[in-house]
Amino acid sequence: MTNPKTSRSTSVVSQLADRVLIQASCPDALKIAGTVAPMAGGMVVTGPEALQAVGRIRRANSSVLLCADTAAETRVAATAEAPFELGEANLIDEPSLQRSLDAQRERGASVALTPTGHIAAGDSAALKAAIRQTDKLQDDDIVVRLPCDVAWATKTYSKQLAAVIATSNHPVALSLAADQDPLTRAGVAEELWAMAATHPHLILWRTDLAGLAHLVNGGLAAAIGFSSTLRHGTSPDRPGFVNNRQDRTPDVLLPDWMRYMKGSKIETVFAATSAPRCHCRTCRGQMLDRFDSTTADKLTAHLHNAAVLQQLIGAIDRLDRSARHDWWRQSVALALTKHTEATAQTNVQLNASRALRTWSQLPAMAG
Ligand SMILES: [Zn+2]
Repeated sequence: MTNPKTSRSTSVVSQLADRVLIQASCPDALKIAGTVAPMAGGMVVTGPEALQAVGRIRRANSSVLLCADTAAETRVAATAEAPFELGEANLIDEPSLQRSLDAQRERGASVALTPTGHIAAGDSAALKAAIRQTDKLQDDDIVVRLPCDVAWATKTYSKQLAAVIATSNHPVALSLAADQDPLTRAGVAEELWAMAATHPHLILWRTDLAGLAHLVNGGLAAAIGFSSTLRHGTSPDRPGFVNNRQDRTPDVLLPDWMRYMKGSKIETVFAATSAPRCHCRTCRGQMLDRFDSTTADKLTAHLHNAAVLQQLIGAIDRLDRSARHDWWRQSVALALTKHTEATAQTNVQLNASRALRTWSQLPAMAG
């Protein structure tokens, strides 16, 4: 077990503790800022225009927690010499990490994110450089972004990753880039679960329901994607992750199943039986098989997802650590049962995800 430093900045930790942020693209963030951001724990505005979008949202709402994530990892790779994307010189000063963080503060970001490039599998020099260069700064509002290749969360590199993260004076926001859902990779869900318990300053970034597992097991916070492309990490050589390019129906969160399911698949699965009804603030009792591929349906589905997430977060929030574990175990067990029952009832083979199966087998209380 690693022992993170005790001198870690406290202001940003108390600001982020137990929060689940909604991670949205700039256009989505501008659309939903008035409703979803205050309802959730805050918002990570993501993309090259994030600074401008955060500025606009901040002018309309002075209190909501906002982060500006320019997603540097989609354009550049981190190196030992240059772990960050720092932009161009201007008339007054040279590019620097300090200037990049100040630009976020000036626009009204609540915390300042390092613009870290993609950290390739095993490039420990780049990983250490990102942490060490940030540690030179004393400000109490910094989060170190670590956009890592998924291999960092496998047996080959996870011990090294955990050891380096433990040295950081600032909280660390980890995302995992992969060609498909990173949690389909053997061992990743287990490693993330273990790191949540041993690294109380770790935030899971660009994630999905793994963000809830992270909070249940002691992690600091999570940022869950509003749309599916922001529920997985990416890198300069990977196009944005899309589950199925032909199927344009939205991914819909089914809370009892602890999974997202394509709108089209929900229709198929529940063709002969009635689809589940949802009582979130978006659906208000309507059935979940109503989402087609129109822009309006996609937005409604994403709003449903955010509302259901908020209900789940509320349930976790009310519990202490050991009760959270019981709640998680029961939720995972119910989800597995739902998969088995539906497979029997519908003749559609519905396999539980690797992550769900892993969570059902994890020790009752880690760390
Ligand atoms: Zn709903």
